[in-house]
Amino acid sequence: MADIVLRVGSRTEQGVRPNNEDRLVVNLNQKLFLVADGMGGQERGEMASGMAADLIPRIVEDRLARQVDANHAVKDAIAGANQAIIDAGRNQPAGRRMGTTAVLALHHDHTCYVVGVGDSRAYLIRGDAVEQLTVDHSVAQALVASGALTPEEARNSPYQHVLHKFLGCTNMVDGADVRPFTPQPGDRLLLASDGLTNHLTTQDMVEGARQFADPQDWADRLVPLALGRGSKDNVTCVVIAFDQA
Ligand code: CA
Repeated sequence: MADIVLRVGSRTEQGVRPNNEDRLVVNLNQKLFLVADGMGGQERGEMASGMAADLIPRIVEDRLARQVDANHAVKDAIAGANQAIIDAGRNQPAGRRMGTTAVLALHHDHTCYVVGVGDSRAYLIRGDAVEQLTVDHSVAQALVASGALTPEEARNSPYQHVLHKFLGCTNMVDGADVRPFTPQPGDRLLLASDGLTNHLTTQDMVEGARQFADPQDWADRLVPLALGRGSKDNVTCVVIAFDQA
């Protein structure tokens, strides 16, 4: 198996919003990377995404130390953060509770485990191919899956950004789907909040991955690109480059 080295770039910008509810984690020691996009307004959204950024790496570390396999370690971390955020929001009235998306990548034993809840996304860019590794847990996307809407209708639907699954949501009984892949030299993995992905095409990803060998240079290009295209949201990305050792 080819020895792979990881290099990582990241960037987050508040944009025109009054605060930044996005959080990111780059932990090269643990080879764990995360983007979380908080919801609930003002300090509640920041608290939820902050809890995800704090708890998920700690739970993964704890499970791996106890010989739990990586797939279950990641699932446990999502479930644990979900419950902690539900508990922290319990005294808030319904409709004012906090939540957050999370997209996480853990590189462990030559495999990269990717999991997402909410509508933050992971994309694998391999040469000319771009694959979205996560599913948006938006009501509009669920309507596409059921055949009620076309993908085109979903893009213009008022339900595009209404989430039915996120951290802090009691509807997590079926857990999170972990998507493992085996990184190849040259692969780029992009984790990003919707403030970025709403303004990015697959063509941008193919060209950017080719143009920017350094993942930090690419992250520093991506965020201003989304803001320049009119993103009114917080904009956050983590770029992981997998290269030949
Ligand atoms: Ca957002």
